[in-house]
Amino acid sequence: RKGARMKSLWSDQEAAEHANNPIALPVYTSRLLGREPALVLHGGGNTSVMLSEQTLFGESEHLLYVKGSGWDLATIEAKGFAPVRMDTLLKLAALEKLSDTDMVRVQKAAMTDPNAPTPSVEAILHALIPFTFVDHTHSDAVVAITNTPGGEETIKKVLGERVLYIPYVMPGFALARLVYELTRDRDWSQYEGMVLQHHGIFSFAHDGRHSYEHMIRLVSAAED
Ligand code: ZN
Repeated sequence: RKGARMKSLWSDQEAAEHANNPIALPVYTSRLLGREPALVLHGGGNTSVMLSEQTLFGESEHLLYVKGSGWDLATIEAKGFAPVRMDTLLKLAALEKLSDTDMVRVQKAAMTDPNAPTPSVEAILHALIPFTFVDHTHSDAVVAITNTPGGEETIKKVLGERVLYIPYVMPGFALARLVYELTRDRDWSQYEGMVLQHHGIFSFAHDGRHSYEHMIRLVSAAED
């Protein structure tokens, strides 16, 4: 892809082939994102889907299936997602302090499958976004703009008011905590994306196609 805008690669037919279980659609949209090198250079980026599942004891559990570390978006499979209990992730976000070592340990212990991969260090961020589908990339265009003097103003002008803008903090618990603080009183329904200065962009929606297509549209605007 040279010089052309990034386009949606969504195909209804391919999506229909990924409709057999709840994790299949995020597998499909993750692979679509993974096909764009300008979104996922150096293997960056992660995706998630929120689901309710029944335990063996008949209780309903709210889970975040989030990309596990060691998996590449372009080739991810259902077993590349880690099922983490949402209540634990949201409790972690509300802590005043937490070391990244403890964060990773508690996230792992909150998985419903001990054989699943280690959840992404950005799992709490995904859990804070109250939409079923959440996509996150380290888009070249978004990072290039925000790394340029005046970049914060430029990216706001380009992407507009349906995007939240978060100042730079090192990825890990500090970033999750900042996003928690800045968004706890927000009405998320007016947003479809979130820019992390010098880091990347999130898109989200209640269905997989729209979350994916918000990402493509926002990144296209940044590329232009
Ligand atoms: Zn990231």
